[in-house]
Amino acid sequence: MESQKVVTFKTLGENVGKFNLGEKTVLVPDMNRFGAHLFSATCRGFGVNAKVLETFKGMDLGMEYTSGKECYPCQITLGDILFFVNKERERLGEAFNPSGYVYFLPESDGPCRFGLYNKYQRIVLDSFPGLDKLKISALTTKDGYSLQGLLEKERVLDFRKAAYFSLVTADILDRLLWRVRPYEKEPGMADEFIERAMHTMEECFTAYGAKKDFDKIMDKMEEIISEGKAIIDPKIPPKPLIGVVGEIFVRMHRDSNQNILRLLERHGAEVVNASIGEWINYVSYDSLRTEKAEFWLSLRQWRFGAMKEHFKKALGFWLDLHYQQMRQRQLYKRAKSKLDIADDHDIAHLEEILKEDNIYSFDVGTEACLSIASIIACARDGYNGMVNVYPFTCMPSTTTSAIVKPLMSKLGVPYLDAAYDSSIQPGREAAIRTFMYQAQQHFKSHGRKSHAGNRGPVH
Ligand code: SF4
Repeated sequence: MESQKVVTFKTLGENVGKFNLGEKTVLVPDMNRFGAHLFSATCRGFGVNAKVLETFKGMDLGMEYTSGKECYPCQITLGDILFFVNKERERLGEAFNPSGYVYFLPESDGPCRFGLYNKYQRIVLDSFPGLDKLKISALTTKDGYSLQGLLEKERVLDFRKAAYFSLVTADILDRLLWRVRPYEKEPGMADEFIERAMHTMEECFTAYGAKKDFDKIMDKMEEIISEGKAIIDPKIPPKPLIGVVGEIFVRMHRDSNQNILRLLERHGAEVVNASIGEWINYVSYDSLRTEKAEFWLSLRQWRFGAMKEHFKKALGFWLDLHYQQMRQRQLYKRAKSKLDIADDHDIAHLEEILKEDNIYSFDVGTEACLSIASIIACARDGYNGMVNVYPFTCMPSTTTSAIVKPLMSKLGVPYLDAAYDSSIQPGREAAIRTFMYQAQQHFKSHGRKSHAGNRGPVH
């Protein structure tokens, strides 16, 4: 690919932001396979032509157009979009029209580099003739991932509700897979089943998501869970329970974490990875927290206009959060009535854990808030080991590691840091084998938590 054009910074304001998806083809990065597919299916139900980008096939391009100092997920997603453009150009020839696409790349407002991926990728795309017309749609944590501006005003709220529902349903499909696969009757059964299940749920979201017929979606999900449960071989005894936390992209994206979940399973674990729903709830929770603080500050300063403004925003985030948690509880309750999958964490509870000994503060922000508190919650809850998965040099995850290592050693729970970049570390498998040996010892002496809440057998 030949990069030629001179790029100006004006483009960061004009071509990165919220754009009406209307007639465009929306390109969704494949961070989490189920999440990306169910979200895209939901978009299609709203009349938006969304497709999931193939992932990890353009790593050579991602590396060619980065300096090596960027975060690993930035290289991967850049490679994915460039790979798509090349393929689409080949497929359509002269008819390829970059202005017909919107590339979805959310951001966070710091303090780390996630807020810069889309700006950096904008500059790279603009350096190729014509690609300045391919817009980047940037959902941002600044407004709690508001979807305003993507569709007509009257449909945006429904779109947000259905999109959230699709992502929590994807979390449940993930949990179902991790619950079933270590105990499957025959190798490969769980993977084959879950792929089919994902396509069934895609159809379901396209048909019922826009109508907000969530009962129909949950009925189908229950059927799928019952089918998945039948794959479990009750003769296989319970295995040590391992929790995975860390940076959201790499812990979710199988290729970038070199399929660490499967590797842990191969060494005798049952694994539960942190969810996407947890992150979305955290974003709403944190936005509410900020607006509340701003409200009290304006009150102390007698700035009534600002007070009113912050109160309005706080109310909006409060409604978002309560709606999300209500839907999440409803989905997990229905799922757990069929099979004891792992529950998700309540964000307020995680903040309480951090406050107990002033371990860390939500004021600092980032995923470290979730990772540190989740590790402690899981260790107390009877997990037999915890793994922190993250991109090499990731700031929040390195902070997490520094804080939790001594705590885990005090609690006597095995802990492993697993940092990834595009290279293969020869000692990785040995580290995981050693970690799993420790987890087995912990399991033998302490037992483990069943997902139903008690320690003891899981089937
Ligand atoms: S969370 Fe880590 S990987 Fe992601 S942008 Fe921040 S520093 Fe980079």
